[in-house]
Formats: sequence, structure tokens, C-alpha cells
Amino acid sequence: MKPEAVPSFADPALLDMAAIRAQFPILGQRVRGRPLAYLDSAASTQKPTAVIDAMADYYRGQHANIHRGAYQLSQMATRLYEEARERVARFLNAADPVECIFTRGTTESINLVAASWGAANLSPGDEIILSVLEHHSNIVPWQMIAQRTGARIRVIPINDEGELQLDAYHRLLSPRTRIVAVNHVSNALGTINPVAEMVVAAHAVGAVVLVDGAQWVAHGHTDVQSLDADFYAFSGHKLYGPTGIGVLYGKRALLEAMPPYQGGGDMIERVTFVETTYAGLPNRFEAGTPHIAGAVGLSAAIEWIEEIGLEAIAAHEDRLLVYATDRLSAIRGLDIKGQARRKAAVISWVAVDPPIATLDMGVQLDLEGICVRTGHHCCQPLMDRLGVASTARASFGLYNTFDEVDRLATALTAIFERAR
Ligand code: PLP
Repeated sequence: MKPEAVPSFADPALLDMAAIRAQFPILGQRVRGRPLAYLDSAASTQKPTAVIDAMADYYRGQHANIHRGAYQLSQMATRLYEEARERVARFLNAADPVECIFTRGTTESINLVAASWGAANLSPGDEIILSVLEHHSNIVPWQMIAQRTGARIRVIPINDEGELQLDAYHRLLSPRTRIVAVNHVSNALGTINPVAEMVVAAHAVGAVVLVDGAQWVAHGHTDVQSLDADFYAFSGHKLYGPTGIGVLYGKRALLEAMPPYQGGGDMIERVTFVETTYAGLPNRFEAGTPHIAGAVGLSAAIEWIEEIGLEAIAAHEDRLLVYATDRLSAIRGLDIKGQARRKAAVISWVAVDPPIATLDMGVQLDLEGICVRTGHHCCQPLMDRLGVASTARASFGLYNTFDEVDRLATALTAIFERAR
């Protein structure tokens, strides 16, 4: 089955690839004598000069610790940090910036909800619904809180194309369901999940929903209000921003009712040895000195992406995906894993005839300057379901070209021929 273009996107003008690539200094280098073909954006995107400069400028001329300084520099850093939060809120269409908590990334965002919301809301017999497609960071935190509270994990299965089986999801939902935690896009297969529909169904049984948006935010508009997600998590580094910064969006009423996740500076109102009271949102969930430069870099990344336009980015990536699917499908013995009808720019495969270890494919592609990821992609339960230990995965960002897809296909064809 071929992926169909994501229907909600118009077909905008093509991206000016030369101009875009010129903004990514790292892409100009040669690896092993070949031009770098970076096809691992689902793991982490490269950074445009706008982001690198914003962070360097911050450290060169604007850095101080935030919130407590009477002096101008600290106030400027505070302003930059809070402006970054406001930009994130607009990007997600959150009703209020205080609903956007800065974290270290998707992993920490999910751990925050599992530990804080989970401890306050889960009891023995309650159910947490996850899916087979989840990244370990949307499985393990739930297992940890389930062990502590006596809650039980239920799992939505997938079909052979890597799509969630919605009929099974509807059967799993019950008054015992407290939370549904699913990814918006699968990092291993690229499947785009029907999260809006899933939210409606979860709310109908009184459950809340956490959407892991790590792989979605760089590929399409996110509107947490129209999605009606209770929590939405993403990482800056998959959105052309820096590592070490991410976001947890949560509906205000839910966040306000949740106990703090970590204790420390900045998250309190008053501390005594008898009793401590906590700050309001968002500080209550941001203990300690945050990654201020990271927030500044994330804000610059969002501004930069919005200038290019997410529709144009998604349309370009969708074309690359369709082209790559065509080229790789033509390689005899190569089996593409997960061919959902709605897919983001991720293509995963294994070599069945002849069987070639995925790591070997990765190493041989590296000799050609081509970066792909091999392994379980932090999705071991999904690998078990697919009946493989690992896959090789190419994933595209807005800077990738059709020429790079050709290089991937040519190199893979040669690898298969050599192994025959
Ligand atoms: N969820 C998904 C779907 C991911 O793809 C990833 C990273 O690959 C994560 C969660 C974890 O993100 P991070 O390592 O940035 O916290």
C-alpha cells in the first residue's frame, strides 16, 4: 500500500532547497569523502543558523539567571524565557502560556505526567491505555507508575500496515480507563494516528489523553484546543531547535490540580521547615534553573519554521516519502515495514532476501556518507509485533532532497547485489 498525501495540506510552492540548505552549516560537510546525506531527522533534526545564532547571542550578551534578579540583565533573560513560552503557546494554540511547561524533552514531559498526575489519579484496578506503536518513553513511565499504584496497562494493537486497530481501542475503553497515552506519529514506522477521534472516544468514558507529539510538531500544525488533548508533549531538538528543551502542554485545570513533580528553587511560594507552599503555573513544574538558552533556541526554531510554513514543509516531506517508497519498493528483497495510509516522512525496512543485518546496512550506507538509523528505535514491543529485532530507518526533514533519496536507493541496491 502506498502512503497517500496527507489530505489536510494544500499544495504550496516548492521549497527553495538551495536557500534552505544554506541555512544548515552542518549539511555542507563531506563524510568519508561524500556529501553528507542526513536521513535521520526523526532521531534529531539539524539546526539552522537562526537557532545557533539566537543561542550564541543569548550567551554572548543576554545571559543571567531568570526570575529573581533585580538587575536589568536578569530581567532581560526572564523576558526572553517568558517570550519563548508565549511563542510555544501560540505555536500549539494553547489557551494560556502558563499551560506550557518547559521540560528537558518529550521523555521528561511524559514522566512528569505519569509521576504527578498518575500518583494523584491512579488506583488499583484503574487502566492506562497505550499502543503497540509507542516509544519506550511513552511506555516505561507508565509501567513505573502502574507498579506503584496498582493500575493496569492495556495495549491497542496494530494491523499489518502499522495502523492502530481502532475497533480494538473502542473495546478497550471503559469506565476503568483513566488515561490514554498515544503518539501522534510513530517514530519507527511514520504512521499518523487519528488522535482527534481517539480523544473524543476517551473523553466519552471520562478518561484523559496524553498525546506524544515528538514526531508530529515538525510535520504539521498542532492545535491543542481543537484536538482537545489534555496533555501534549514534544522535544525541541526534533523541531530544528536545541537538545535539552521540550514542552509539556497541559490543560490548566488539570495542571493546577497536580502535585509538583520535582522540588527545589523557583517552584515554591513559601518554604519553612514546617510547611512549604507551591508556586502557581507554570513555575510549580519548573524546579531549578531551567535551560534558558534552550528556550531561546526553541523560540527561534519555531519562528524560523513558521516563516517557511508548515504546509510547505509537510508537502515537501510527503513528496520525498512517496518517492522514497517507490524507489525502495523497487529493490528486490527489501521489505518496507509499516505502510499506513497516513504517514509522516519515515520509511523503515528490513532485508529479507538476502537477509542482511540492519546494522550492516547502516554501516555500509555510512561509507557512502548516508546517515540512517538502525535498531529497535526505542520500540521493542513494536519490533516484537513486527517479528523483527530491528529495522533500518530513513527519516526526512525539510532540508532533504530527491537526490539524497536517489543516493539511498542506489547504495541500497548495491548493498543487496553484493550480498546475493
Ligand atoms: N516519543 C517519540 C515518538 C519519539 O520519537 C521520541 C524520540 O525519538 C521520544 C518520544 C523521546 O524524545 P526525547 O528523547 O527527545 O525525550
